[in-house]
Amino acid sequence: MKKTFQLKKRIDKKGIREVIYLKNERKGGCPFKCKMCDIKKQCFYVSKNENKKRIISEITKIDVKGPIYKKYDRSILIYNSGNATNPEELCTENLKFLLISIENLKIKPLSVIMSTRGAFVNKKLLDFFIGLKLSYDIFFNLGVESLTDKGKEIYGKLSIQEELDKEFNLLRRYNLKNKSNFGIVYNFLFLPEFFVDNRKNNEDIIYGFVKEITTFINKYYNKGVEIRINLHPFYQTKKLKFKNAPLREFIAGAMIIQRFINGENINKFLKRKISSVDFLKNKNPLSNKQKKQTDIFIGVQDYGYETKIWKKELKKWGKHIKAINEGKCLPLFP
Ligand code: SF4
Repeated sequence: MKKTFQLKKRIDKKGIREVIYLKNERKGGCPFKCKMCDIKKQCFYVSKNENKKRIISEITKIDVKGPIYKKYDRSILIYNSGNATNPEELCTENLKFLLISIENLKIKPLSVIMSTRGAFVNKKLLDFFIGLKLSYDIFFNLGVESLTDKGKEIYGKLSIQEELDKEFNLLRRYNLKNKSNFGIVYNFLFLPEFFVDNRKNNEDIIYGFVKEITTFINKYYNKGVEIRINLHPFYQTKKLKFKNAPLREFIAGAMIIQRFINGENINKFLKRKISSVDFLKNKNPLSNKQKKQTDIFIGVQDYGYETKIWKKELKKWGKHIKAINEGKCLPLFP
């Protein structure tokens, strides 16, 4: 596999997140051709048989029993450079084989996260998962990037809000009816240009970021679908000419969002009040059930594109990133 995009093993509030790398069984790869996607046509194509062999080798790699697993739970992300729920990209036979192989691991995960666009998540698929009687929860991993007008335009995901709502409502109704726990991981990108025209406006950047994510949480938490939010700072790619996102503002924003999740009134940290966020709901600390349905992670351990400067920055902010991944708060700046 091309060495441009790799997701490292990560430890967060849900334990150790491991990754199963598959390839894409559809010639032409993912049928969506998002403007900024770096996954090239056919780059990861593989036959169904080859992918099955790959499943076996990936499962073998993951089936280890180190001392670390005594301390942490485990979750597994399935990544196939596209949509793991689209039978054209990962055939049903391989998907079933994979999920049962995971079920048979010596250390079972608490959840399996499948990268996919919402368009491939439907009732038939959910029935299929239920029929397998798996002991772990299934999450769908959706690359939202941003719900701001600027963000949707930059990333060419103009109808992502509608797609997101459709998927969320399907899972909400299904969970309610079947007492199931299908959840969603939402991946948001942090790029100052989503919120400001001039990067010198540090406080406006933090404000825009916090507003976007807290408004999202307020809208979707405690509605019967467990949500996890993965925040990625933007790092420069060949296709997108923006500079790397400033980690100082990213960390400050994420720390404020973490405080919001922990039940603090966060307006005191912001230049302006966020009027659209219903802080009433947040005056009382969230109940355990609500907390289970709202989580936040920072996925900055994902690597592959970073420059030297970026790596240095990651070292500098490592303590903060770790704290947020574990659901803890530190001062906004060191
Ligand atoms: S849906 Fe995901 S994998 Fe497919 S083109 Fe868009 S960003 Fe790339």
